[in-house]
Amino acid sequence: GIPTAPPPVLNPRRKSRKIQVGKVAVGGDAPVSVQSMTTTLTSDVNATLQQIAELTAAGCDIVRVACPSQDDAEALPAIARKSGIPVIADIHFQPKYVFAAIDAGCAAVRVNPGNIRQFDDKVGEIARAAKAAGTSIRIGVNAGSLDKRLLEKYGKATPEALVESAVWEASLFEEHDFHDFKISVKHNDPVVMVRAYELLAQRGDWPLHLGVTEAGPAFQGTIKSAVAFGHLLGQGIGDTIRVSLSAPPVEEVKVGIQILQSLNLRPRKLEIVSCPSCGRAQVDVYTLAEQVTAGLEGMEVPLRVAVMGCVVNGPGEAREADLGVASGNGKGQIFVKGEVVKTVPESKIVETLIEEAMRIAEEMGDD
Ligand code: SF4
Repeated sequence: GIPTAPPPVLNPRRKSRKIQVGKVAVGGDAPVSVQSMTTTLTSDVNATLQQIAELTAAGCDIVRVACPSQDDAEALPAIARKSGIPVIADIHFQPKYVFAAIDAGCAAVRVNPGNIRQFDDKVGEIARAAKAAGTSIRIGVNAGSLDKRLLEKYGKATPEALVESAVWEASLFEEHDFHDFKISVKHNDPVVMVRAYELLAQRGDWPLHLGVTEAGPAFQGTIKSAVAFGHLLGQGIGDTIRVSLSAPPVEEVKVGIQILQSLNLRPRKLEIVSCPSCGRAQVDVYTLAEQVTAGLEGMEVPLRVAVMGCVVNGPGEAREADLGVASGNGKGQIFVKGEVVKTVPESKIVETLIEEAMRIAEEMGDD
């Protein structure tokens, strides 16, 4: 077929250094990756690997596991070895677990230097061990665990305080000629968080991991993350993202992928263009859109499917879509590439759309 130009993005990507998190590159020209974190006890190897498999199937690129105890540290080798995607160990407080995670073959370690006691003394050792093993680091500055000194200086976790902490912690590694790290400066307020990343982006070429921390339950957390990430990624800032939700981690991955797709930072796959419904609707659009979405979940080809409540805008939207339905009079007009290919009773709309979608997908796959 005719080669198509890549879809437009809002702004060019900020030039960041590229690092490796295992097999996944982060920064530079590497695609923005999606991360999540397991909610199982890390010491429960089977449950953790099961959840990692679910995350992988949902499209997660990198997974983080908490490591608060010796039992968790001992589970890391098996998890790192059997996970299909790179594993980052999340360490607070105890440097000994940082070394355990590096020895375990974790792709990266997230440390919050503000939290690691006597961290200063350990930085050189951590840098040497990480370099020898090819392990990268995330410096995870977090509003909730900001250095006391900075809290006193700024009064609270302001963007400037988060950035000062990050730049200082980065310098601790850089003094030891260690550069394989990315940085996050998370805050639960999207406005503070956005400002912090904007400031940090001007201070160096570190790859940046975006996150709104403690973003809340799914609805609120999705919106906070979408607004904040949209603002930053729209300016080209951000190399890897994690949506934090008080919800199952697979939901975080779905939201993360959808944010990247919305910004054309990742190819769109299935896209349902459904109308909001109005007084003209002659069919239950919400249910129809949900059933079609569920029926087509997991489609690997880019497909725009229009689900329209009436024939007013139906044909117009359907022309722009690969496939669509406009309903009226208890029937559905099925459109393929803007042409009505058949009219079916309302009860057959969902199955007909799914059939047609599969047929189109097969044709696309054959190209
Ligand atoms: Fe209303 Fe029809 Fe538009 Fe849906 S497509 S919002 S039912 S006018």
